[in-house]
Amino acid sequence: MAHEALAIAPLDECNLKLLASVRPDGWKNPTAAPRYNMVVIGAGTAGLVTAAGAAGLGAKVALIERDLMGGDCLNFGCVPSKALIAAARAAASARNAKRLGVIVPAGVRVDFPAVMARMRTIRADLAKLDSAARFKSLGVDVFQGAARFTGRDSIEVAGAKLRFARATIATGARATAPPIPGLAEAGYLTNETVFSLGELPRRLVVIGAGPIGCELAQTFQRFGSQVTMLEVAPQILIREDRDAAKLIESALNRDGVRIVTNCKIERVEKRGSEKILVTSAEEIVADEILIGAGRAPVVDGLNLEAAGVEYDPTAGVKVNDYLQTTNPNVYAIGDVASPYKFTHVADEHARIAIRNALFFGRAKASSLIIPWCTYTDPEIAHVGTYEHEVEKKGIKVKTFVQELAEADRAILDGETDGFVKVHVQDGSDKILGATIVASHAGDLISEITTAMKAGLGLGSIASVIHPYPTQAAAIKKVGDAYNRTRLTPFTKRLFERLLAWRR
Ligand SMILES: Cc1cc2nc3c(=O)[nH]c(=O)nc-3n(C[C@H](O)[C@H](O)[C@H](O)COP(=O)(O)OP(=O)(O)OC[C@H]3O[C@@H](n4cnc5c(N)ncnc54)[C@H](O)[C@@H]3O)c2cc1C
Repeated sequence: MAHEALAIAPLDECNLKLLASVRPDGWKNPTAAPRYNMVVIGAGTAGLVTAAGAAGLGAKVALIERDLMGGDCLNFGCVPSKALIAAARAAASARNAKRLGVIVPAGVRVDFPAVMARMRTIRADLAKLDSAARFKSLGVDVFQGAARFTGRDSIEVAGAKLRFARATIATGARATAPPIPGLAEAGYLTNETVFSLGELPRRLVVIGAGPIGCELAQTFQRFGSQVTMLEVAPQILIREDRDAAKLIESALNRDGVRIVTNCKIERVEKRGSEKILVTSAEEIVADEILIGAGRAPVVDGLNLEAAGVEYDPTAGVKVNDYLQTTNPNVYAIGDVASPYKFTHVADEHARIAIRNALFFGRAKASSLIIPWCTYTDPEIAHVGTYEHEVEKKGIKVKTFVQELAEADRAILDGETDGFVKVHVQDGSDKILGATIVASHAGDLISEITTAMKAGLGLGSIASVIHPYPTQAAAIKKVGDAYNRTRLTPFTKRLFERLLAWRR
């Protein structure tokens, strides 16, 4: 797909402030140095962390961005979506306050333009950290323009030729639209345009029930849209733990989202201002359609062939465990080269690339323990392997589950939908993976990730004091459950005899 025009709207004070940081008008590209230690293509999380880190260590660095510095996370991803989610949670809390004995007058309403304005203000403020001016002040040569390789050690941008000892491709990913007849003609929103909406769509159809689809479906429903989410698979969040996905499905239904699984969309028709989605079972009328059906790596226009860099249009740039491409002097990191399309992975990849590319490091991507979180309410967070994955590999696991309905803090908060599920290797307390569903599961999962990283077993977590009452105490309870399994009938009999003797 050809590169599209910048998608930031409206051009109000906040967005102009954002653009002044991430795409300053009248920016003058610097004169290219004779040769760079590192040329970075793409100024999203992966590129920014690489450029700042390498420059901080004394490297001569060029950073090239064709659109907006900050990439998806700042402009069209994590930042705007989580700002909207905060507002949606506030609306849901107000609507549900009665359950806690708090009387909120009926008719809680979301002022959508105000929510969007708040998001734009926060985004513009956060943009300073990713700004062209800041990176210039860090000693990075910031180039505006689309980069393309002209050889194995050279890149062209806006008429300038940059020669490099090492380069890093950090061009990210973009939303892919399924090939549904009439969809393109009817028009649709993606993550690049949904955060520019000025009006709340009355009827919103979300195509795709992955993390982005689920987060935004719940958010817009809570804002007051009637949301229908269509998923071709038999269930939502297909990659997640089944029990976790079921809980989220119930939560979305409770909010009023209509979910249609096993849904085959045959075509989309435009009738007046309405968009009609014709499925095998029914016709669904929408004012807007939002696509959340997968992301494809951005590999077009880079002329990767000239650099000897192999790639696949679906899987992205081919890299080895050191994040080196088929040209050993060129690295690829973040969404363009990873199945784990998360900001924290892009950040970690950048650290690996700096070490390996500039300092003869041998850091491996496969050594990363990667947690992630879907920010629905409740959230689903996961780390390590899933039960079904390890079983496929022939590893035997034991699974320990603590329902939040038995955790005092969750009961007190009225947030009992959820659980902590931890898989350990059978016969030991080595943690192989965990899924947490809780209102702030994304925060809770770090305790398990830390334990896995430090090689601490589930039994050790039971010996960690957790403040009472916290939802994190549910993790300790899972540890207790594991420790109870160590009490064999023989040891139990021994203890009973000892205690009888001491009476
Ligand atoms: C709606 C949404 C919500 C998300 N929420 C979360 C979340 O809560 N937590 C989380 O961890 N992740 C989240 N993500 C994912 C996260 O945004 C990405 O994983 C992250 O931005 C990847 O960073 P990156 O640097 O690899 O790529 P990007 O951020 O996509 O940056 C790539 C940059 O390269 C530039 N570029 C491309 N081609 C060229 C070229 N030829 N020349 C110059 N520049 C070029 C692009 O313009 C872009 O700025 C979300 C994503 C979306 C869409």
